[in-house]
Amino acid sequence: MTRTVADYNVLAATKHVNGNNTSARKAMDIEKIFGENTFGMDEMKARLPKTVFKSLVATIDKGAKLDPSIADTVALAMKEWAVERGASHFTHWFQPLTGYTAEKHDSFITPNKGGGAIAQFSGKELIQGEPDASSFPSGGVRATFEARGYTAWDATSPAFIIENKNGSYLAIPTAFASWTGEALDHKTPLLRSMQTLNSAALRVLELFGVKDAHKVYSTVGVEQEYFLIDEEFYYRRPDIVTTGRTLFGAKPPRGQELDDHYFGSIPDRVLACMLETEKELYRLGVPVKTRHNEVAPGQYEIAPIFENTNVAADHQQLLMLTLERVARHHGLVCLMHEKPFAGINGSGKHNNWSMATDTGMNLLEPGDNPHDNIQFLFFCAAVIRAVNRHQDLLRISVASAANDHRLGANEAPPAIISIFLGEQLEDVFNQLEHGPAKTSKQGGLLGLGVETLPHLPRHAGDRNRTSPFAFTGNKFEFRAVGSSQSVSFPNIVLNVIVAEALVEMGDMLEAELAGKKKTEGVLEEAVAEVIKRVIHNSKAIIFGGDNYSDDWHQEAERRGLLNLRTTMDAYHHLLDEKNINLFERAGVLSEVELRAREEILVEQYFIRVNIEAETTEYLGRTYILPAAVRYLTQLNDSGAGAGVKSVAKNVSTGIDALCKSLDALGVQNRELGGDTVHEKAEHMRRNVIGAMTEVRSAADALEGIVAHDMWPLPTYREILWVK
Ligand code: ADP
Ligand code: MG
Repeated sequence: MTRTVADYNVLAATKHVNGNNTSARKAMDIEKIFGENTFGMDEMKARLPKTVFKSLVATIDKGAKLDPSIADTVALAMKEWAVERGASHFTHWFQPLTGYTAEKHDSFITPNKGGGAIAQFSGKELIQGEPDASSFPSGGVRATFEARGYTAWDATSPAFIIENKNGSYLAIPTAFASWTGEALDHKTPLLRSMQTLNSAALRVLELFGVKDAHKVYSTVGVEQEYFLIDEEFYYRRPDIVTTGRTLFGAKPPRGQELDDHYFGSIPDRVLACMLETEKELYRLGVPVKTRHNEVAPGQYEIAPIFENTNVAADHQQLLMLTLERVARHHGLVCLMHEKPFAGINGSGKHNNWSMATDTGMNLLEPGDNPHDNIQFLFFCAAVIRAVNRHQDLLRISVASAANDHRLGANEAPPAIISIFLGEQLEDVFNQLEHGPAKTSKQGGLLGLGVETLPHLPRHAGDRNRTSPFAFTGNKFEFRAVGSSQSVSFPNIVLNVIVAEALVEMGDMLEAELAGKKKTEGVLEEAVAEVIKRVIHNSKAIIFGGDNYSDDWHQEAERRGLLNLRTTMDAYHHLLDEKNINLFERAGVLSEVELRAREEILVEQYFIRVNIEAETTEYLGRTYILPAAVRYLTQLNDSGAGAGVKSVAKNVSTGIDALCKSLDALGVQNRELGGDTVHEKAEHMRRNVIGAMTEVRSAADALEGIVAHDMWPLPTYREILWVK
């Protein structure tokens, strides 16, 4: 018997009662469980000989060269710890250019002569792995017959244990490179970019007379948005299963119009899922901090406390994996896609970025009087210069077929990159451009007109939600990042472009100071001069107004800012000479590596759109068309009067439109547009996406007139509101 739509709605709504099972309420002792599944500092200190521990800490904290002779000792301790925690296997965990993580498991088992076995793990196995790399994208760096690839232990990101009810395994964060030494992953260039930023920033600090800092690293905290839907619906939406988003679905009568979901109380089943997710993340040492309902129905957000960017990027991957994994325990499916549902908000992740020293100084902390804080202003100006000069790279770093649905759609920042500084800071830089800065606008106290309520200290400027790149107090928030993407590339770009600006501004500052005695006020004057020039040349990028407005688009054009509307427009610039030189000079990506990345990005775009287009055609022909025809037959067979005849006519017209659009899409799907990935991707952009949209509108129109019990796909109305 086939199950009707109504059946599985009821199933979805009723099967999960564990959401608020108060009798079995579990307590969570955060202090006790935090990091218990990681081989972190405490564990290392307890298990490693002092000299080995010291050497490792020097690598982790100070960036000292990894001493390979300690590997055997560390491996032994790591294995003992992992086995005690029930692990039978280990894996080198890496991040190939698919944007996902990859792992191949090896067991610790080594047979012995007596017919038994012992668990073994050597330093060599810890340091180096050799996965067959031929099936990962290499962008032509490596021919498939040269399958060799290496993974290399990243001691600066803690190893962790992944548990399953039938066992567990040890995962070791690693970098991944080809036999010829080219980076094939996200981690290698990220680590390289951290080194580049470190030396550029340390040199500037030295000019400012800061002597105690020995390391500068960027910090990142990522606010992750996601959807949760009932798995009943998931299984019945082949489009979601195959592509991560709905390719069909009419706008429901109720979407997010009532604004009742945002920050609303969290439904019990969802809260249960969040609590379990967070618990798992705590155990993995991921410091998640906030959770709330987002704007769209079924949409939520989770954010950790910021960390060193390398660790934050690993933790970001773990966070996505854990969300997806735990959701299933609750009969839910986590959708990480940038636009799972048309017509309501999609998901992004706000990438909060700053720079910190090993002595705990946040280099983007303005203090109460930013006009006085010349060091802050210098670093901040470097970011402004960097973003202005490399708008294209920031745009490229967030471009994807999925994010194209979001950027510029009045729910996410436009594709035009600009910086919001806030009133206070904008004013300070304005003063600096025209002379010395003498004041900082102050926020004061905000009275609420009720005696019993406290007076609140008010920030010196309001927030701006529409800016793609906003200064938010003591960090910059890059808001155009897509929800499903790895945060590595955007942060590689940020690290590299800010490092470049710091090098150049460092040179300018040195030139200003050359030959001058270090008397009082000389440094201040020189810094003011550098900032003045930098701001003068970069101020086009600063914009404090509404980024969603049409006026801004025109204004941005007048200012000469880039407007790279779609992914392919953006990718077109990746191999500009400026960018090849930038990455090469920084020692972050060689020309070969950058070319490989461009090829992979374009290929991923092509493949993703191609899969969506084929799925659209398939579902249109085998799900939607037959349902509509069945309904039409029923109407025609009913023998009823004029009313029904007119409905039948509508359905029939709808079917014609669907057939026509399906044929048109079919023609485009059979065509690839050329032999190179670039030609194929262009074909997708020019011809396929439009043809897909036509099929969708024809199908969505039918959804509104075909009998619900015959409609083969769960509708938005159902998917979005069952919690
Ligand atoms: P909001 O954006 O709503 O103001 P928060 O101030 O809590 O929220 O910050 C959002 C994210 O920014 C969090 O992940 C937080 O840890 C991160 N963050 C805060 N300070 C820094 C910093 N110095 N560097 C990087 N990220 C930071
Ligand atoms: Mg934020």
